[in-house]
Amino acid sequence: MIRLFNTLSGKVEPFDPISPGVVKLYTCGPTVYDYQHIGNYRAYVFEDLLKRFLRFSGFKVTHVMNITDVDDKTIRGANAKGISLEEYTRPFIEAFRNDLQTLDILPADHYPRATEHVREMVGIIKILLEKGFAYKRDGSVYFAIDKYPSYGRLSKINLEDLRPGSRGDADEYEKESVHDFALWKAPKEGEPVWEAEIGPGRPGWHIECSAMSSKYLGRTFDIHCGGVDNIFPHHENEIAQSEAANGVKFVNYWLHCHHLVVDGEKMAKSKGNFYTLGDVLAKGYDPREVRFLLLSTHYRKMLNFSFEALEQARAGRNRIRDFLVDLRAVKQEGPASDEVTKLIGAARAGFVAGLEDDLNISEAMAQLFGLIKRANKLLAKSAASLSDARNLAEFVADIDAKILGIKPTDVYLKVDPARTEQTVSEIGLKVDVSGDVGPEILALLNERQSARAAKDFKRADEIRKELLGQGILLEDTKDGQVRWKKVGPPKS
Ligand SMILES: [Zn+2]
Repeated sequence: MIRLFNTLSGKVEPFDPISPGVVKLYTCGPTVYDYQHIGNYRAYVFEDLLKRFLRFSGFKVTHVMNITDVDDKTIRGANAKGISLEEYTRPFIEAFRNDLQTLDILPADHYPRATEHVREMVGIIKILLEKGFAYKRDGSVYFAIDKYPSYGRLSKINLEDLRPGSRGDADEYEKESVHDFALWKAPKEGEPVWEAEIGPGRPGWHIECSAMSSKYLGRTFDIHCGGVDNIFPHHENEIAQSEAANGVKFVNYWLHCHHLVVDGEKMAKSKGNFYTLGDVLAKGYDPREVRFLLLSTHYRKMLNFSFEALEQARAGRNRIRDFLVDLRAVKQEGPASDEVTKLIGAARAGFVAGLEDDLNISEAMAQLFGLIKRANKLLAKSAASLSDARNLAEFVADIDAKILGIKPTDVYLKVDPARTEQTVSEIGLKVDVSGDVGPEILALLNERQSARAAKDFKRADEIRKELLGQGILLEDTKDGQVRWKKVGPPKS
């Protein structure tokens, strides 16, 4: 049974979908006025983990992520450049899609754009006007929050702070200024205008998500996600609009992921600590290392992004890779042992139980690394058979393919792309070890062995470093032999 923390109830609850085996999921997508920063990707990676785990647990998931291509910020940006909204948002949408792929975030089933759903938004606003939840003022339409008594349920805001009759046009505002918000904004100089039955104008931000979620998922659906920033006013307003118009519950489970800070500070362009995904990758990191870092802090905890933390993510991912490499070296024929079979069974159960507990990724990863530690001890004693090695590798590959998506074996493919195809080993993984190193490297290996035999440790060490520069890591065994494996070249 999966349990999730529901912002609406403030409690961890058992997850029970509306239709058995099916999950309808809506996640607030990007406002495409700029390139997305790594803080945005933290939310998208969390949502990807949720979706992958729901699928792993047997649910069929329908996922909708909107693209906000009309709001205060996109209009401001387009006007500053003197180009159309469409021209202005296009490159940001493209970059966003590329980044999702780069981070191995599974695509949503639908990416509806706000500008293509204005008709649906107008439909909801009309109902709100008819039912008396909205009113017109100076060509705009506002939602009257005093007509909707349960306003504030999600964000737990104190409605006594409310100044009656106050209203605002801005899409984003603070809790301190809770007020009637704009559903439809009267035409303004330099803003796009849609002709509609409710009068000419353009939609506010919040109505976009109410319209697009219900169109693709129905009036009531299972899970709505976003960052904690979205709780107020965005999600509060979505609930008010949808429930007032439809007369039914909007969403059963609200999941919000916490902020990402950089070196303990809120990310801001003015502070110079603002990173896009491209900025981070340009520093020499693999996108899967970034994914691993974003994934590995529980979604309800603040994530402190730093390059030191990214180094730790790299080390963690490399530890998994090294384990797969060592498994590849097992040659001893034989059946699977009870001991290893039990270890795998316990690790799998623990991994799943961790994620079932409100996506406790720390617990899940602890299970995986615990298994690696125990299995490494058996490998060191040559106490694992080829069948054991195969089962261990398959377990790691399976949870990586289905849930983690950090592809620990990719490192090898990077070192030598020409070997991609021939490195499919008998344990079914693309792990490149031993075998043919080429004559030059073999000569160096032999020279080093001779140097060691002659106790010329200085030369032996030089060769070790030289090979590491080429991505070849040497390990001297107790019996005087040398083992090698390919690794990503060290950072220069
Ligand atoms: Zn939204």
